[in-house]
Amino acid sequence: MPEKNREFNIDGVIEEFEALTKDAGRVQRETLRRILEENGEAEYLQNLGLGGRTDPETFKACVPLVTHKDLEPYIQRIADGDASPILTGKPVTSISLSSGTTQGKPKLLLFNEELVYSTMQIYRLSFAFRNREFPIGNGKALQFIYSSKQFKTKGGLIATTATTNVYRSEQFKSTMNDIQSQCCSPDAVIFGPDFHQSLYCHLLCGLIYSDEVQFISSTFAHSIVHAFRTFEQVWEELCADVREGVLSSRITVPSIRESVSGLLSPNPDLADSIYEKCVGLSNWYGVIPELWPNAKYVYGIMTGSMEPYLKKLRHYAGNLPLISAEYGSSEGWIGANADPGLPPESATFAVLPDIGYFEFIPLREKPREQELERSAPTIHYTESEPVGLTEVKVGEEYEIIITNFAGLYRYRLGDVVKVAGFHNSTPKLKFVCRRGLLLTVNIDKNTEKDLQSAVEEATELLAEEKLELVDFTSHADMSADPGRYVIFWELNADACSDDVLHSCCDRLDRSFVDAGYISSRKAQAIGPLELRVVERGTFQKILDHYLCLGAAVSQFKTPRCVGTSNSEVLQILCSNTMKSYFSTAYG
Ligand code: AMP
Repeated sequence: MPEKNREFNIDGVIEEFEALTKDAGRVQRETLRRILEENGEAEYLQNLGLGGRTDPETFKACVPLVTHKDLEPYIQRIADGDASPILTGKPVTSISLSSGTTQGKPKLLLFNEELVYSTMQIYRLSFAFRNREFPIGNGKALQFIYSSKQFKTKGGLIATTATTNVYRSEQFKSTMNDIQSQCCSPDAVIFGPDFHQSLYCHLLCGLIYSDEVQFISSTFAHSIVHAFRTFEQVWEELCADVREGVLSSRITVPSIRESVSGLLSPNPDLADSIYEKCVGLSNWYGVIPELWPNAKYVYGIMTGSMEPYLKKLRHYAGNLPLISAEYGSSEGWIGANADPGLPPESATFAVLPDIGYFEFIPLREKPREQELERSAPTIHYTESEPVGLTEVKVGEEYEIIITNFAGLYRYRLGDVVKVAGFHNSTPKLKFVCRRGLLLTVNIDKNTEKDLQSAVEEATELLAEEKLELVDFTSHADMSADPGRYVIFWELNADACSDDVLHSCCDRLDRSFVDAGYISSRKAQAIGPLELRVVERGTFQKILDHYLCLGAAVSQFKTPRCVGTSNSEVLQILCSNTMKSYFSTAYG
């Protein structure tokens, strides 16, 4: 057993999880009791007439289902400096900002010690599961992690993204030590004010410690793909830095310069070896195992909106396994990947029954084209009464409701999940999509997942041309009559024939199989789908735009639908459009 595992008992962590999940129903009741007792003082709960009762039945009868909008006034009071127990019994230590990339604007949420604790709990559990299957030795991790801007609220609390709140916590470093995941880069790089400089230095530090790196990771897979796309551009400069032992002049932030320069000394042998390996690669296939020969896997969230990046990630990772990381949000954690050996496309998340109290609103999916004649087609989902964690059924879809130690009581997270099976008596969830409707013009309703599937089908035509889709998003254009879907694509090369792109456009249009869409297209109540090809680097501009607003790269998810309210992003997309194609799929 590696040295450090003596302190952190991997088997013990899994055994504890096994015991908890064998009795998930009881653990859930117990967790609800603890949440309600610890926060019994909170004004929000006081007003709901629980009268000290903590059983699930009373809880459901007294506490309403809420969305973030309902809690906003309470959270705002806390941010403004009201220190009385409003949503939680214990004091709130800081405010978290969600990435804001799925909804358009960041949500304010509470952050406290309980969230730090549960984050460490899920990190340890996930590590235990993956280390059982893919053991790593002592060494380091090349982690593409970045803090985001921090600011003080009117009431003096620090507000920043949840990941930054975690990186700032005392427990983070010691947990990373325990789970053998010490980042190659110094803190100055993680907390640097300029993302581009931090990314360059993450790559450089990774190269300096190339023999020690045990795995490559980031919170979301997008950051890893982004890092290696950048590597393709800057690898020669990185080699020069390693060779000379002098940091590139592109690094101007003094704290980053100082700390990274301290790690550098002239190393021509390493530089030669990196150079030879890079020139020997074919189109960067397998660059990760080539440069980090002791890496055992690539790790990060690869499900949901990260799936479109998997192909490129596999390309860079070559023969290394891709392990999909845990499921959670700024609001709180939900589940860990207990089967890390499965490919990301099949990843599921076993819910930790002591991390929160979970309910599930059963959803019945909207009817598809073939069901159109038999039923009213306009309902996207029908929903019924929420059920408990152990009452969900395999194969069914649900919206998750969270009650946790961070001041959320029956909070609709807005994510749709499918129950893939059970780990003992706790469900294993497959992430489906965000609940919010994405594209709708008429009676059509297409989700992020529907868009993703359509894009996946259409890009098959690109593969035949050896072209890649770098990123994509969409917009429902209502300025025209009838309205229509506009899909924006960034490709990895400018040379693509108009014929191919026309075919892609038609294929996209046909690949939306939602009954409402097809019938509206046939009746010309929705206009022909438009495919717009944007200049290379457009999605980088969108990322930069979000970073300016305070988002964290660590939590960045490309917005898959850009509404008119998101005028700046829409403007970036429109002003960078190079070519446009209209579908002829429906005549
Ligand atoms: P944020 O709080 O802004 O970081 O975003 C949290 C959201 O990211 C969740 O509500 C999910 O929609 C998505 N998310 C988080 N973890 C996963 C995962 N493992 N798979 C798919 N989507 C995820």
